[in-house]
Amino acid sequence: MAKYDVSCKKCNCTFKVQLFGPHKDREWRLENYTWLCKECQELEKKEKVERLLEEAAAEDLAALQGSEKQIAWALQIRAAFIASERKHAISYCFHELKRKAPSFDKVEESSQQIVNEAFAQAVNEPSAHWWIDNRNDLDMAIGLKMAGQILDILNPVEQKVEEEAKAEMVMLPETRRYDSICEIIKTKNDITIHFPEKVEEFRLMVRGAGFAWENKRWVATANLIGKAEFVAAKALQMGIAVIAPESVREAVKAGSVYERWVYLSKDGKYFYFRWWSGDWYKQCRSLPGSRWEKPFVAVPVIYRDEVSDFAKINGFGLSTGAVEEINKSSGTEIINPVMKSGEEIEPMAGNGIAEGLKDD
Ligand SMILES: [Zn+2]
Repeated sequence: MAKYDVSCKKCNCTFKVQLFGPHKDREWRLENYTWLCKECQELEKKEKVERLLEEAAAEDLAALQGSEKQIAWALQIRAAFIASERKHAISYCFHELKRKAPSFDKVEESSQQIVNEAFAQAVNEPSAHWWIDNRNDLDMAIGLKMAGQILDILNPVEQKVEEEAKAEMVMLPETRRYDSICEIIKTKNDITIHFPEKVEEFRLMVRGAGFAWENKRWVATANLIGKAEFVAAKALQMGIAVIAPESVREAVKAGSVYERWVYLSKDGKYFYFRWWSGDWYKQCRSLPGSRWEKPFVAVPVIYRDEVSDFAKINGFGLSTGAVEEINKSSGTEIINPVMKSGEEIEPMAGNGIAEGLKDD
């Protein structure tokens, strides 16, 4: 390592440089490099930026926005990109079009004018930050922008209607942490969740709620009341935007979401306890007459009062069927005979549970 005097090729001033490496290399560099002093380097940079700005203006390119340094860098990135081949960006663009619009066949790849226009629009990105962020993947970034433009041109109405309708259905979390949107679709028999991003806490949550990963989406075949609402609320808490049917949105907004529920079995003989997070097995099994009927804890309906209290204390939601079953008790007089020793019990009206009510 040593310091050498060199002279600036531009202004001829003398300045010191530090050189490393073998002696021979250093000598070669001293003789062959175009040495520029700091001032001349700065000047050259400025001139280059000015040249790029002039060229951009001449080509009708967007004026870049950002800090002075960002703009200077972004100008170079953009100029180099525009001077390079377009074919990679175009191939990304077509790939994306085919993915997004299966009916894309109706557009000939030869509609050169549309492609050119989309390219021109895409490189018109004014944010210096955008160019710097995407500098290593400009082919893809520009290709995706082009595809967006082309879809807009081809399918303006249909696309807009769908997008606007979806925008109305979106619920945004307080702080959004993920780009992808969780879309919840409910049909009569199942619930489907589309969420392409890999997020471990989301995966655990939907698994807990009984969803299985099938064909790149989460599916639950038991469409239990409150399950879609539970997933929506949890996703929002994780910072994920959610698209869901209106009933689900209403419940989430109203804060009437439960992590655990009590249902009534189809034959009306049992209350079914189900939870989607935490472990409630032991507590549910403490109820009288309880048994495990995977994935539920079942409790005979005669224990409606115990079930009602338990649900209230432990924050279980009650399905309509369960509520109806519990309310049956309110009309029934509960009789708890006290035995008096030495006396005969007087016959009572009915036997505690009126037979007629059972089938009400
Ligand atoms: Zn100089």
